[in-house]
Amino acid sequence: MIGLQERLEDAFHQFGWTRIPEVLHHHAEEASKHNISYLEFLDKLLQEELAAKWDRYIRTRTRLANLPFHKTLDQFDFRFQPSIDERRIRDLATLRFIEHQENLIFLGPPGVGKTHLAVALALEAIKQRYTVYFTTAHDLVQTLQQADQNHTIKQKIRMYTKPRLLIIDEIGYRKMDEPAAHFFFQIISERYETGSIILTSNKSYGSWGEIFGDSILATAILDRLLHHSTTINIKGESYRIKEKKKAGFFRPEGHEEHPKE
Ligand code: ADP
Ligand code: MG
Repeated sequence: MIGLQERLEDAFHQFGWTRIPEVLHHHAEEASKHNISYLEFLDKLLQEELAAKWDRYIRTRTRLANLPFHKTLDQFDFRFQPSIDERRIRDLATLRFIEHQENLIFLGPPGVGKTHLAVALALEAIKQRYTVYFTTAHDLVQTLQQADQNHTIKQKIRMYTKPRLLIIDEIGYRKMDEPAAHFFFQIISERYETGSIILTSNKSYGSWGEIFGDSILATAILDRLLHHSTTINIKGESYRIKEKKKAGFFRPEGHEEHPKE
């Protein structure tokens, strides 16, 4: 004869429930101590299991999204970067642009928070159950060039076209040769009007001809990218340098400042 305990454990296992077995006895004791109704008891257990399932979902999707770090909008200090309109970013965080397959481009010098904002919106998108993938422009073209040699190009192209949101970070830090620019164009074309891209660049659109080594190709890329899009131009000081200043790496002229603790 199987006991009640074994039968319960077997049922939890078959349902794939992992949290209820951990908290069942505690909640059962509490229920009998405080006269909690059967329905309330059942509700408590199921809510715990659902919360644990949601946690697992977020963790898995975040891992698969390949983000370089995990920072949220609440961790972004808008006072430090007054050229960014906080309301506009909060509006973007509703993610209507993903619903409408529109693109979002952050332009600005290094350290002003382009990647931070892209990552924060990615985390928001994961919470809203969108699929997300993050790559740098350099990794994207390298991966595609390698895949082309290994005859796995079709799978790799899917990796960049399938997610509802693709983040391509750091366009313009390195110039692309002709095959690289061609692969980049292919991804932009395949996602055109089918899936959103968040892109970051330290180069204004006028200098994109130099990035791709070809002004006609740059125009074709910009044409598709900008058709349904929002551009956020960030002008300001690097947050990294601010932190270094705070730590005393830079001293204002004429001052003998000591590094702060
Ligand atoms: P970019 O991509 O524009 O070069 P990052 O987004 O990588 O800059 O920002 C550099 C570092 O500074 C990151 O650790 C980021 O979290 C932080 N940072 C940048 N701007 C802000 C800000 N306004 N508030 C809080 N942290 C910021
Ligand atoms: Mg960056």
